[in-house]
Amino acid sequence: MEKSLCTLAAVIFLGGFFDAAQLTDDTTTEVHLLLNSTSTAASVTVQLQHHSTAKTTPTAAQKLHTTAVTTKKLHRKNISRDSEEENNGEKKPASKTDEKKTQLDCPPLGLESLRVDDSQIRASSSQRSGLGPHRGRLNIQSGISDGDLYDGAWCAAYKDQNQWLEVDAIYLTLFTGVVLQGKNSIWSWDWVHTYKVQLSNDSVTWKTCMNGTEEAIFEGNQNAWSPVLGVLPVPTVARFIRINPQTWYINGTVCLRAEILGCRVHDPGDSSEQDLGSKDPLDFRHHNYNEMRKFMKSVTKECPDITRIYTIGKSYTGLKLYVMEISDNPGKHELGEPEFRYVAGMHGNEALGRELVLNLMQYLCKEYKKGNQRVVRLVTDTRIHLLPSMNPDGYEEAYKKGSELAGWAEGRYSFEGIDLNSNFPDLNNIMWDAEEMAIDKSKVSNHYIPIPEYYTQEDAMVSPETRAVISWMEDIPFVLSANLHGGELVVSYPFDCTVGWAPQEDTPTADNAFFRWLATVYASTNLVMANPNRRLCHHEDFQVHNNIINGGAWHTVPGSMNDFSYMHTNCFEVTVELSCDKYPHASELPIEWENNKESLLVYMEQIHRGIKGVVRDKMTKQGISDAVIKVEDHDHDIRSAVDGDYWRLLNPGEYKVVVWAEGYFPSMRRCHVGMQPRATICDFTLTKTPLQRLKEIRAKGLKIPQDFLQLRLRALRLRKLRATTKVLNQRRVGQRMLQEERKARGA
Ligand SMILES: [Zn+2]
Repeated sequence: MEKSLCTLAAVIFLGGFFDAAQLTDDTTTEVHLLLNSTSTAASVTVQLQHHSTAKTTPTAAQKLHTTAVTTKKLHRKNISRDSEEENNGEKKPASKTDEKKTQLDCPPLGLESLRVDDSQIRASSSQRSGLGPHRGRLNIQSGISDGDLYDGAWCAAYKDQNQWLEVDAIYLTLFTGVVLQGKNSIWSWDWVHTYKVQLSNDSVTWKTCMNGTEEAIFEGNQNAWSPVLGVLPVPTVARFIRINPQTWYINGTVCLRAEILGCRVHDPGDSSEQDLGSKDPLDFRHHNYNEMRKFMKSVTKECPDITRIYTIGKSYTGLKLYVMEISDNPGKHELGEPEFRYVAGMHGNEALGRELVLNLMQYLCKEYKKGNQRVVRLVTDTRIHLLPSMNPDGYEEAYKKGSELAGWAEGRYSFEGIDLNSNFPDLNNIMWDAEEMAIDKSKVSNHYIPIPEYYTQEDAMVSPETRAVISWMEDIPFVLSANLHGGELVVSYPFDCTVGWAPQEDTPTADNAFFRWLATVYASTNLVMANPNRRLCHHEDFQVHNNIINGGAWHTVPGSMNDFSYMHTNCFEVTVELSCDKYPHASELPIEWENNKESLLVYMEQIHRGIKGVVRDKMTKQGISDAVIKVEDHDHDIRSAVDGDYWRLLNPGEYKVVVWAEGYFPSMRRCHVGMQPRATICDFTLTKTPLQRLKEIRAKGLKIPQDFLQLRLRALRLRKLRATTKVLNQRRVGQRMLQEERKARGA
């Protein structure tokens, strides 16, 4: 064979497959196929389905693509909307190599996202069924023990060069690259150093990809976790692709996880693929810090009457933690109106939540303007706060690598290496210890537990991001929240921390029934979770629990945000694991929006369940703040906000509610909660006890009730935490200025 291209005779028929008009379509890219049998050039159109933002990093293997690519006039207006715009207003001319790189950058077929079915993946051999071809998916995670059905890679049965993993793309596909990763295991090290790629249209005749006159050798992995991209010297249309390992880690076996990059060849007669994605006209792409900021500004510009951007603090490197408020009266707490929050991106590499929260802002704005009754009601009756990126430093790290090459953990932690989801104070053990010591357990406070003293110190390992969120949680009387993560498909509810450090144990709160309801609301409306035929993400089957699980029953996490929110404030919070793939390719974002849209909306609406009202002074009619709202047989109280308004989330039923406040006589009412998502109004009017009463208590040498002390301590500790945060922030700014000064002097 004289041609140095990996080409296929079988694609000849493609020449007649497309009409010429397609070639000038802006949304398509032309690629020339040199057909080895005839050396005639035939033009085909290839639909690039994605709005590519995946910044694929060139590796050694990419050197290979210096061979002639017979690509003609590649125009791609729609594809990289973000690359020219929005770099803080500056237009950066793309370099030649960048241009070529993005042109060749096709989306993943979906081994990681599970868009590729198990039946589409085959292999030459397998060590055992748990290491079968279905496990050869990028970023798949194994269970703790090896040997079950769910191990961390495909592993061949033999250590020779005749082993292969094969993917059937089903459609004719322009293959552009392979992403390779080693085996996920805590027990062994296995990865592939080099490999060849073969292509076929019938899975019988195979052609090896060539680099010039030689078979192309792609560089694979140097460790088990980092994905490495191999770019095909010549993008080639075929249906089947094989990865054929040549060398591997000397003490290991032939194991790999992979993703295939390819653009589906567009058949103009087939309209089925037009259905993919979403009808909502939203900005579906990955937004880095600057793009996110710009995007949020554009939403406030479009909907100035119902939006407001504010910041709650800064990350370690000084990136701002932006929040979008959406409400009919932005900037104001309205009496009786509950406050909701979504927090995303606590783990920076779990990027889907961030984009869904950005989608949600834009959606609420657009639908409100259109007069969508459901959205108008939600925005009018609720004050919504959206924090798309709690850990922007981590996100930027993952973003640099892109959706396919960030791996499983890069960008998860804060800049200082802190896992923010175990960085909150562990109040569970404080409460449980107090209960154990107490003679009368019912006297121990079951809510509003103060931050422990050690946590407020300057040298406490508390990240600036966590500090910012704690202050935010105290400033706003949040009622309901969800913490958006990724990498699984399940909704978990508190407690996350188990009693007595058990690694795994169901640890319900006093509000277990309502938390299970909240988790169910999200899980049962998420289109992927709700699909009974879905396959499990990695190694745990959450479908047996209807896709919800108690956090402690999953794995214990002391110091989680959910637990802190419940123990320190009035706010109920669950964790949503949004997708198997932590960082889906941009082309998956429209479908992920559709998967989660109803869930995100219906979850917010749950804030209007249970009872709510205002606690007032009988004489002055003024609201009473910090009044305790106690529901009989519910071992978790909540407190009224500054204006005396309160919200108590409850399932339908009849409740005996007692409200009391410092200096007032308690008051009792029976409140009925119906099935509709509409809170029952239960107002309370309290009569002041003579001020004398407290004085008498003191005069008699009696103890002031524990709860008053607790409240004062809680306020004191927060003041201390804020003071140390301020000192730390000032110090960091000083250090940075000093560094810059030195740098300037040095230069
Ligand atoms: Zn996470």
